[in-house]
Amino acid sequence: MRDRRRKRTIVVMALDRAARLRVALERDGGTCIWCGRAFTAQITPSTEHVVPRVKGGPSWPENEVAACRRCNADRGHRGPVEWLEECERRGWEPDGARLVRALTQLVDAIAREGGQRRARPYVDAQLRRLRRRAAPRGAGLA
Ligand SMILES: [Zn+2]
Repeated sequence: MRDRRRKRTIVVMALDRAARLRVALERDGGTCIWCGRAFTAQITPSTEHVVPRVKGGPSWPENEVAACRRCNADRGHRGPVEWLEECERRGWEPDGARLVRALTQLVDAIAREGGQRRARPYVDAQLRRLRRRAAPRGAGLA
């Protein structure tokens, strides 16, 4: 158990920032999670931490998605669901499904790897909030 965890940490840390961003882009496609714009030479991607690092979010692939630099900067340290709702107020088209998937995979990764005492309750609260939002529309997040 310990060994596996250490190996994973080494593998994750060995990927530099650019490589981790490529992983997120290949997994999720070349659009910003928050505004939905496609990345171009002008709209460049950056690594966005679903759970902000100041809230204890780990630098794991499960906690990293691609966002354009504008959205990344505008969001600051706001929680992902609060910021998702702000994006909607601005008339953007945030990728709620991608956020649910990222948070769900992060829950699984934390369950597997252990630790993350600060991030765990934060992720759970964000997912509950997302599910409450989705429930009236029956978006199938149960
Ligand atoms: Zn954006």
